[in-house]
Amino acid sequence: MLKKLSTLSLLLTLSFTHNTFATQVSALAEKTANYAVNTYQQAMINSLAKLMKHNTVAVEGLSANDNPAHIAFKKELKKQALALGLDFKDEGYIVVIGLGKSKDRVGIITHGDIQPVNPSKWKKSPFELDLTSEPGKLVGRGTEDDKGPISTALYAMKAIKDKNIMLNKRLELYVYMAEESDWGPLQEYVKNNTLPQTNITIDSEYPIVTAEKGYGTLKFQFKKQKIVSIETYISHFEGGYFGSQIPEDALVIIENADFALLQRLMNKAKNYSGISFDFELKETTLTITALGRSAHSSKPKSGVNAIPYLADLLSDSRWKNNGAGTLVNFINDNIGLGLEGKKFGDIAYSDDFMGPMTVSPTVIKQHDDNIELNINIRRPRGKSAAQLGSEINSAVATWKLTNMAKIVELDHHIGDPWVQGDVPHADTLLSVFSHYTGIKNAKPVAIGGGTNSRLFPNAVSFGPSMPNTEYTGHSEHEFITMDQFVLNLKMYTAVMIELAK
Ligand SMILES: [Zn+2]
Repeated sequence: MLKKLSTLSLLLTLSFTHNTFATQVSALAEKTANYAVNTYQQAMINSLAKLMKHNTVAVEGLSANDNPAHIAFKKELKKQALALGLDFKDEGYIVVIGLGKSKDRVGIITHGDIQPVNPSKWKKSPFELDLTSEPGKLVGRGTEDDKGPISTALYAMKAIKDKNIMLNKRLELYVYMAEESDWGPLQEYVKNNTLPQTNITIDSEYPIVTAEKGYGTLKFQFKKQKIVSIETYISHFEGGYFGSQIPEDALVIIENADFALLQRLMNKAKNYSGISFDFELKETTLTITALGRSAHSSKPKSGVNAIPYLADLLSDSRWKNNGAGTLVNFINDNIGLGLEGKKFGDIAYSDDFMGPMTVSPTVIKQHDDNIELNINIRRPRGKSAAQLGSEINSAVATWKLTNMAKIVELDHHIGDPWVQGDVPHADTLLSVFSHYTGIKNAKPVAIGGGTNSRLFPNAVSFGPSMPNTEYTGHSEHEFITMDQFVLNLKMYTAVMIELAK
């Protein structure tokens, strides 16, 4: 009861605060934003093309400070910043690009690292900006997440500099080199440096993001058991690529299969949409590959997860407990095609503002004596990590017992959700957004992803993606549309002026 009341009152406060905008976009901001898009569209594209060439994915065991790709990326960034007349400071994992001398500052938070990429799934190299495969789109790794926004911020700052606008606050563009893999160095930096008092993160979506779900990884090992049988069984099940991507690939091998089974599964396969299956029966071995659609794991609805769909195709049988078969039974019983963990004991829950927890199997790793299933969760406020952890344990314990299965639960990581309190600059951001998009009554939103907003004071996300459009970062078809790229330049230029004037 109490919880319901407080959520309701928060919603009322939010809508009350943001229904009417005291501030409008100033003529100066509007004029400079127009100048930016009239002058720097092509330069911004060239900048992005150069930043994208560097494969700044994290390499395990190698510090970003020693990674040649990261070093080369920062060198390129330095060259661009200095050529634009901005100041540049390399602090190792963090690069700060600045404009102005004031003590008061506005921070713009981005990251220069990227997620892994599977080049075979791209029409052209994911590290070459592809302007031709899909007209109107800039395709490639980092276009949306987060190198495109870096180029946009650079040219917004350049436009402001060109116009000699006297700002009361210094602008600082932060480029963090390990947002996708390790927040430790940034946490260290935050402890030892004074950060700007006002911050926006341009690594998520509009209008503004004031709450982010907590990121978690659940890990289970299914013991492999050799079986000799003349009955049908699953000898191998695999799928997934990396933890924060909804996987589009999965594969199963079934032994002692026959034509009747093949026919039955092929018929069932026709009932699914958004996913295709490929069947190959060689003597008595049936191999099925599934191809869904990859997506950012904070937005499981944007993709089609090949792992649970392939398991679902096989769900009319109860498979032998040999590891791979156990895994398929486990996925069908506890995950299924739902995205919210509703079949998984009592773990499912939801928050009025932040939405439901999502539960997505993302990676299956093959080890010598076991198969490891990694499940990515994104959870709202409303439950403690301890409560959720014990609910997971108890659901798995019950299932193990009922199914006589050999499963080891490894250490789960259950991160906490983040909710920003009062944001002094929220109205300014919402005004700029409404002005340029025509979307009235824009309100703060919550997202499933996590950004560096949570480490900076008074930080909220402001773009680069429009609400209710497909977010393509982390997927194998990442792009930003030219229209959005240009709209972002307008909005970032205007917002920097409004926040710093
Ligand atoms: Zn990002």
